[in-house]
Amino acid sequence: MMIIMKTGATQEEIDNIVARVKSNKLNAHLITGEERTVIGVVGDGRPVEQGQFVRMPGVDQVTPISRPYKLASREFHPKNTIIQLNGLEIGSDQIFVIGGPCAVESRSQLLDAAVKIKEAGGHALRGGAFKPRTSPYSFQGMGEEGLKILAEARELTGLPIITEATSPDLVPMISEYTDVIQIGARNMQNYALLQAVGKSNRPALLKRGMSATINDFLMAAEYILSKGNPNVMLCERGIRTFETATRNTTDINAIPVLKSLTHLPVVLDPSHSTGHWEYVTSLARAGIAAGADGLIIEVHPNPIEALSDGAQSLKPKRFKELIEQVDAISKAIGRDLASIPTKAINSEIMQ
Ligand code: PEP
Ligand code: MN
Repeated sequence: MMIIMKTGATQEEIDNIVARVKSNKLNAHLITGEERTVIGVVGDGRPVEQGQFVRMPGVDQVTPISRPYKLASREFHPKNTIIQLNGLEIGSDQIFVIGGPCAVESRSQLLDAAVKIKEAGGHALRGGAFKPRTSPYSFQGMGEEGLKILAEARELTGLPIITEATSPDLVPMISEYTDVIQIGARNMQNYALLQAVGKSNRPALLKRGMSATINDFLMAAEYILSKGNPNVMLCERGIRTFETATRNTTDINAIPVLKSLTHLPVVLDPSHSTGHWEYVTSLARAGIAAGADGLIIEVHPNPIEALSDGAQSLKPKRFKELIEQVDAISKAIGRDLASIPTKAINSEIMQ
């Protein structure tokens, strides 16, 4: 339920409510607005008597949250969540584009990609060091060495980095290196992993499971939020359908649906959605037109030599064109591309 305080309610009145919430063995999440405070009350589903709060001093109204996901719902938090990342305001009117290879393959490959992503106007660098591959015989990633290379690429370019955590025990180590933790489609319902990311201090990019409904997706986000991490972005990356012409089917509907159901930023991954580089730019444009806050795109300096997902990876030149087109679409819908970090390339690192 939501306890909406009166305008001008005192701190003491707010503290009294929080104390009563806790005495009911419930959790209180405060949203402090310019005019009034709202206290979101979340429990374990057992019935709670709302009347006890209605009668307390300073309370204006008490309303139930109808959705099964509480903290993720727009009912709970009507304004967009804005995630601060290295000067970027994710979830605001600014559109951002993350680019980079599927996987970190070597120091030279990643540093080369990082410079090209920056030169093309990308806002952040992606690259997997722990890869959740469908086949156990495929390249599984460089592990911690890959994380060190990513951190070096951040030094080189000033771009924040995003990389995937595939198990809960890796989260503390990955948090030390990365700016954003990715949770992959195959792990969307790995609840121990979601909880571990919920306890970390890094923003999360949660990808939609390939057979997950929007409700399942938001319930997965709720696991992260409920452990205290408010900075979750949702990433649509295509779902399984009967169609085989593309790797997955981009659920464009999910973008406006998510924007209406939740306050969390929404990102589209047109690379895994389509599986073919020639469709990536079209879907990127569609995603921004549909209301996505950002994009995550696979880009490789030399896609034919990529150890994973080469077929869907753009060359840097095409990535630059994609950003130019996304810029035009952003302006047409009253938004704008975020400016890129101003740090100059640190060429000493390239030696
Ligand atoms: C990836 O981003 O490289 C990836 C493995 O994506 P997904 O989890 O969406 O398949
Ligand atoms: Mn990939």
